[in-house]
Amino acid sequence: MFSLFPALVGGSVADRSALRFGDRSLTYAELAARAGALAARLDGAGRVAVWATPTLETAVGVVAALLAGVPAVPLNPKSGEAELGHILGDSAPSLVLAARGDRLPAPLGALDRVDVDAGTAAEAEEAASGAAGTPGSAAPAGTVVDPAAPALVVYTSGTTGPPKGAVVPRRAIAATLDALADAWQWTGDDVLVHALPLFHVHGLILGVLGPLRRGGSVRHLGRFSAEGVARELDSGATVLFGVPTMYHRLAEALGEDPALAKALAGARLLVSGSAALPPHDHERIRAATGRGVVERYGMTETLMNTSVRADGEVRPGTVGVPLPGVGLRLVEEDGTAIAWYEADGAPAGAHDGESVGEIQVRGPNLFTEYLNRPDATAAAHTADGWFRTGDMAVVDPDGSVRIVGRKSTDLIKSGGYKIGAGEIENALLEHPGVREAAVAGEPDADLGERVAAWIVPSDPQEPPSAEELADHVARRLAPHKRPRTVRFVEDLPRNDMGKVLKRELPRD
Ligand code: ATP
Ligand code: MG
Repeated sequence: MFSLFPALVGGSVADRSALRFGDRSLTYAELAARAGALAARLDGAGRVAVWATPTLETAVGVVAALLAGVPAVPLNPKSGEAELGHILGDSAPSLVLAARGDRLPAPLGALDRVDVDAGTAAEAEEAASGAAGTPGSAAPAGTVVDPAAPALVVYTSGTTGPPKGAVVPRRAIAATLDALADAWQWTGDDVLVHALPLFHVHGLILGVLGPLRRGGSVRHLGRFSAEGVARELDSGATVLFGVPTMYHRLAEALGEDPALAKALAGARLLVSGSAALPPHDHERIRAATGRGVVERYGMTETLMNTSVRADGEVRPGTVGVPLPGVGLRLVEEDGTAIAWYEADGAPAGAHDGESVGEIQVRGPNLFTEYLNRPDATAAAHTADGWFRTGDMAVVDPDGSVRIVGRKSTDLIKSGGYKIGAGEIENALLEHPGVREAAVAGEPDADLGERVAAWIVPSDPQEPPSAEELADHVARRLAPHKRPRTVRFVEDLPRNDMGKVLKRELPRD
């Protein structure tokens, strides 16, 4: 029988902590009672929007919608009104779930509002004990629904254009979480600490639904801090999820903080995803803690595709191997598959670490469609049913996937060469005068495109010269990868996942 939360509705871990946000928490029995009561009120609703602040209320609201079998649309509370208007018009929710006291902006004013009552721990306990006997019995009958039914509509991060609503079926959530459990030896004994937003796949599906599916615990920091991470890892947390900007901040803090190094060294698993983790930060963390960071690669549309395995070798710059059940191949522009994996998981074709192709995937982890965008859905799939990720990669001789960058923004066609922005960014980050770096192509009369770099200097008073940085890259990589234009900026435009918005980089 298909169930997303066997531990929650089965009552097997009733007294275990399920969720903790700041100083408020719910056990499994309390969560089942709260979310079950709310689910009963949602029965029959169309789609429900969730005002996805990093709070207990968001987690309870999403779990309630999943129990009721009603698709949830998590909203970024930092979205501007135009973006909110677009998402609401597109997803047409019948009501919005929010925490009592949350002020909702104008575009949400027209919707019915249901306050989520995550309650105090004491109130929840009362509700749980009043819930007709066994813990979890407040969950409605709709708990087991069609695995193909839509569970969530998640909007993409908007890194390359306006966010698209990916319809994520229940089966994809179960498949991806179970594949990660296999890869990471992830069990109900794990206690996860994170500080990720709850309106994307990483923070919500992996970071909240993941532990709940396994019967484990989540501790959310509300706001990321190195001290918060150290405190939780020192007091029982076993796993950390983060985006590269968080690992960058940890790498920076490690220099002056031996207690942080000890805490990270004691974790069972450190996981990074949502964007490439620069090898420079990876190496600094490894040098200070003796621990490698496990990178996994996924998308809103596909949930997780690859990961380094917990018992595998961690090599900076690689995102591991396809997860169980995921088909993955690299395809050239003319449609020729140059590398793929056999049914037994073995790499085949060009696994030379050099031949670049687009990653295409298929499997039970995939979305169903872009909401209201049959054109975009069709364009994103090949005739033989594979999803085009738009990410370019190579397969290393040991079978690990190494992402080179996005086809649309990270592949620079210059003077007959195809140059990946990522390796130039990584080379620049190794220069002591560089704090942050972004590289992209710019139109060039001679070369077609030229390599351009945007640099946040470590010391704004004394930035390195453009010439010195260009030479640094040319020495490390190859002369044709030398940036022709270098611009110094105060910061890089990034979205809420810390991803650089290359279309917003200042150009003359
Ligand atoms: P949009 O599709 O709206 O432009 P987005 O692609 O950033 O935004 P997401 O679905 O959140 O939205 O992000 C998926 C993308 O993030 C992947 O296609 C890939 O480019 C990048 N990504 C995720 N994990 C990794 C990783 N470990 N290494 C490198 N890139 C990654
Ligand atoms: Mg995308």
